[in-house]
Amino acid sequence: MRQKDKIFLESKNGYFGEDKNGKHAFGGQYIPEILFPALKELEKAYKEIFPSKAYQKELKMLLDTFVGRPTPLIYAANASKILKNDIYLKFEGLANTGAHKINNALGQVLLAKYMGKKRVIAETGAGQHGLATAAACAKLGLECEVFMGEIDVARQRPNVFNMELFGAKVSSVSSGSKTLKDAVNEALREWSKRSEDSFYVLGSALGPYPYPDLVRDLQSINSKELKTQTKLFFKGLPDVMIACVGGGSNAIGFFAHYLEEKVRLIGIEAGGIGEGIGENAIRIHSKNASEGIAQGFKSIFLQDSEGQLSLTHSISAGLDYGGINPQLAHLYEVGRVEFGSATDKEALEALQFFASNEGIIPALESSHALAGAIALCKQGIKGKKIIVNISGRGDKDIFITAKALTPKAWSAFLREEIKRIEKDLESPK
Ligand SMILES: *Cc1c(COP(=O)(O)O)cnc(C)c1O
Repeated sequence: MRQKDKIFLESKNGYFGEDKNGKHAFGGQYIPEILFPALKELEKAYKEIFPSKAYQKELKMLLDTFVGRPTPLIYAANASKILKNDIYLKFEGLANTGAHKINNALGQVLLAKYMGKKRVIAETGAGQHGLATAAACAKLGLECEVFMGEIDVARQRPNVFNMELFGAKVSSVSSGSKTLKDAVNEALREWSKRSEDSFYVLGSALGPYPYPDLVRDLQSINSKELKTQTKLFFKGLPDVMIACVGGGSNAIGFFAHYLEEKVRLIGIEAGGIGEGIGENAIRIHSKNASEGIAQGFKSIFLQDSEGQLSLTHSISAGLDYGGINPQLAHLYEVGRVEFGSATDKEALEALQFFASNEGIIPALESSHALAGAIALCKQGIKGKKIIVNISGRGDKDIFITAKALTPKAWSAFLREEIKRIEKDLESPK
């Protein structure tokens, strides 16, 4: 860390960084005027309802009994031996709906309920956040509408199916590139029309203040649990902590209680298939990314010269986004968090390595963090205690991983499956 810099554990006046008008302050509220009342109301709820005993008590109860927390910390003994360091895995994949996203979705839906809202709206890319929000709404009895790009609706049928099973309405967005960033715009538009009865559940630590603070606080349950869980295995602090970074919510929650400790913190972004525009989702250390304002906040974005968000690519849908959490942008600027990247191929190799050695199937997103850990160990460090955040489980990725790893067997299976379905359709039993 640079001596003169202060690290921001939370935003001040909505910003992370020294000067609201200065170059290096990220966050803020860059939104159309029509949304100000809704954000003011949310700000009030974040300051008054969120810290209240009643809300926190109910949230804890739901996290324990509905989400299934605490999620385990696993010592990866076999991988550790091979990699010559002690690797621990914080397995968020065991949370209900399969990833860390439920921590945030549940907290926001509960807040909506305490605010007296009857209806929740959300955006979703691949569908993981929509799924978590729909589950929380089913549990807490709120109406739920999820905005999803038309292209994503078509290619993510399993998550659309599950969201509808939870009783949510999935609305297809046909504007722009018909993907996540357009779904965000549509959700914001809908919110500006119906903020009186509707709460906007944002899916990552992004967007205007107070979302980045609220989402970090909700995800920080992860590092809070770690503070006691590590004692099972070792005294004192880990040496290194590694997480994948899409929007940044699993990383900031995993780092939160260690920001002021002497621990190396590393974020791993999606290196995709190359260095060109549209071939990856690297915001930090990319010549195609720059400081800018989009979707309500100031941060580092993959954007063109006119400030339009670029298209991105990653084998993992959750990392496939052009913006990054403003606090992580700040923590990078002041030298507190380091960033690296892993390619699609490296993520797939890490997935196979940990699956075969440790008996877990990490999500493709989380496999990027594992690839980062493998790369670090191969640089020659030895005997370090490394915790990797496994943000989700990989069952959801079978259509991608099976196609990539065993294409012939997978396509034969799908062909047979289609035949079976069509036969049933022709002559229902
Ligand atoms: C959505 C998702 C991510 C990326 O989102 P963050 O906000 O960066 O955490 C990572 N892992 C999984 C399993 C996801 O579903």
